[in-house]
Amino acid sequence: MTSSAKSNHGVLLVLVGPSGVGKSTIARKLTQQLDLCYVVSATTRPKKPGDENGKSYDHISREEFLRRLDNDEFLEYASVYDDYYATPKQPTLGWIAGGRDVLLEIDVQGALQVRYHYPDALLIFILPPNESTLLQRLTDRGRDKPEEIQRRFRSARREIHMARGARAFDFMVVNDDLGRATAEIAMLVNQKKAEGQTRL
Ligand code: ADP
Ligand code: 5GP
Repeated sequence: MTSSAKSNHGVLLVLVGPSGVGKSTIARKLTQQLDLCYVVSATTRPKKPGDENGKSYDHISREEFLRRLDNDEFLEYASVYDDYYATPKQPTLGWIAGGRDVLLEIDVQGALQVRYHYPDALLIFILPPNESTLLQRLTDRGRDKPEEIQRRFRSARREIHMARGARAFDFMVVNDDLGRATAEIAMLVNQKKAEGQTRL
């Protein structure tokens, strides 16, 4: 006889990908389709006009960031484009333990740390359909200065290369059509939930 133990913890969904690929846009659409808790990252990056259309952040000082880091309050952290970004540990792990599915939107370095601390996470890397579309999206978003756009675009090549090499991601999803890409990710989350519920 086979025994099956129902897992009560939620799915930790981690969306990763270069700046401008569409993570926040997908995250917004996904939360309309799935019951996901969205974790607000802490960052030392100052607020920018246009931020309200993208990912929400808890903007804090460098001193505050280092204090929280020392206090072991982060699940992961990374230095991206000269600023620190981090996922607060307590709400993330609390929600998962309580059976809620949780969404993180972070960079490759952070995702590798999440994989280490929480091997059961569902790590999805979002790819642009091609490089020129990514540049177009970074430009059309109208949030960053031209030199910042170029910097993010150059960094995207490195991140995509790193993601392919790291082999840490469960799936790579191309954000060509928003509805299609979101539906693919929703299907992967539902599949992961179904697997968790029949784990031996
Ligand atoms: P990220 O969170 O990865 O930095 P955003 O979600 O801010 O990226 O998206 C960057 C820009 O690309 C936004 O202007 C958004 O409206 C646009 N965008 C996102 N996904 C698509 C898509 N599938 N097709 C066309 N435009 C998109
Ligand atoms: P942006 O400033 O464009 O919103 O974000 C810049 C980069 O920081 C993106 O690649 C984004 O995924 C990443 N990022 C945002 N929040 C976090 C976080 O909490 N942890 C890590 N490691 N990266 C993050």
